[in-house]
Amino acid sequence: MNYKWSRYLRLILVILALATGVGAIFGYPMQGLLAGLLLYLGWTLAQARKLYQWLSHPGAGQEAPASIGLWGDIFDGLHKLHQGHLATQDRLLAQFNRLQESTNAMRDGVVMTDANGVLVWWNGSASYLLGLQRQTDRGQPIQNLLRAPAFQAYFEKRDYREPLELNSPARSHLHLQIQISLFGEDDRLIVVKDVTRLFQLEQMRRDFVSNVSHEMRTPLTVISGYLETMVDYSDELPARWKRAIETMAQQSTRMEALITDLLLLSKLETGEQHGAEAAVDIRTMCEQICQDARALSGDSGHEFHLDIGDRHHLRGDEDQLRSAFSNLIFNAVKYTPARGSIYVTWFTNRDGAHLSVKDTGIGIDPIHIPRLTERFYRADPSRHKETGGTGLGLAIVKHVLLNHDGELEILSEIGDGSEFICHFPRERLAEPDPEDESAPETSNEV
Ligand code: ADP
Repeated sequence: MNYKWSRYLRLILVILALATGVGAIFGYPMQGLLAGLLLYLGWTLAQARKLYQWLSHPGAGQEAPASIGLWGDIFDGLHKLHQGHLATQDRLLAQFNRLQESTNAMRDGVVMTDANGVLVWWNGSASYLLGLQRQTDRGQPIQNLLRAPAFQAYFEKRDYREPLELNSPARSHLHLQIQISLFGEDDRLIVVKDVTRLFQLEQMRRDFVSNVSHEMRTPLTVISGYLETMVDYSDELPARWKRAIETMAQQSTRMEALITDLLLLSKLETGEQHGAEAAVDIRTMCEQICQDARALSGDSGHEFHLDIGDRHHLRGDEDQLRSAFSNLIFNAVKYTPARGSIYVTWFTNRDGAHLSVKDTGIGIDPIHIPRLTERFYRADPSRHKETGGTGLGLAIVKHVLLNHDGELEILSEIGDGSEFICHFPRERLAEPDPEDESAPETSNEV
């Protein structure tokens, strides 16, 4: 480069010397030099104009202007640089098109929005599933286009650990699952899956369980009725029939409890069980349940400690809450040996409201805890005959809590007792009636 540069300088000097020489022949060396300089300046300006014109319209196929010397090399260098840029651009465009083709071939919808929820890009499936229009919707906030309140709440919440399910706004027969991921500076990647088939299968399963339970209920009631009558007259029966009839009566009672729980569970799942929401007085409810639990405990002599440390009521469905809390308190009785203690505590703090049911019972191996709320899951299957449970109690609790925006926490160690805590958000708290407020806080043995 240095060599070339000194060549250019030498060339310019030679041209200027020649111009001065020619000027000197005519007796005007300075004017000759000036004329040489002006000529060189004119030529340089002409080359700069060529460069300017080319830079203004460097069409894809357009060659860089031709020239000689320093300008020739500058044009060549720029031409190479330009060709390199065009090649990179082509390569990137090909990659981008391929990426678009592959995402368009996806069955799942993919949508990208910026930090304000404005639609930046989406694929073909997203247009189909969500009804987005390429011409009109680009640049619109997604909240204006997907107006379902569930979506709006999910989008704003920014807690995207669990996906959201909802009906397609564009095709009502489709059921969609939406999962959002945050990336970049609060941009969002929204993946939309068509889960209609799964949803229908799940619906069929629920309907099947509910129909079978309904159908079985009537014949079972008849059988139980006759068996109970026979048990009442068991003294008149031959001795070998007596035991058989008593066992049959016991089992039919269990089956009735099972069917009642199955029906309740399917109603909770379908939302059929959702009565009007009211401010539920937890103190009165827990007192009543503890009375029933005492009856269940019978001669076992369990001690009940009820501590209602907060007077707030809980906004919710009274029947559902009663059934959830009863299941927890009755379980505490069933899984706590005679003379054990059961603590029922209602308290609130800045995280919300909490109902804890703690016992000094047999406890649960922590490996079972994540699965305890599954239907028919039992930590110790050998004990279930003894306790006579249906295996559905905690599944009911979980569904009731889901319907009340709550969560169930289970703390337990084998031999160390268990604690089941129902957590409810603060928004569920309701002020008690002014008359109730005069009632003292309850902290006693029931
Ligand atoms: P079940 O009708 O068998 O009690 P649940 O759904 O109510 O069914 O409970 C599921 C399982 O959880 C029970 O089988 C039992 O193993 C365990 N479990 C529930 N509550 C307690 C408790 N308080 N102490 C120990 N184990 C419990």
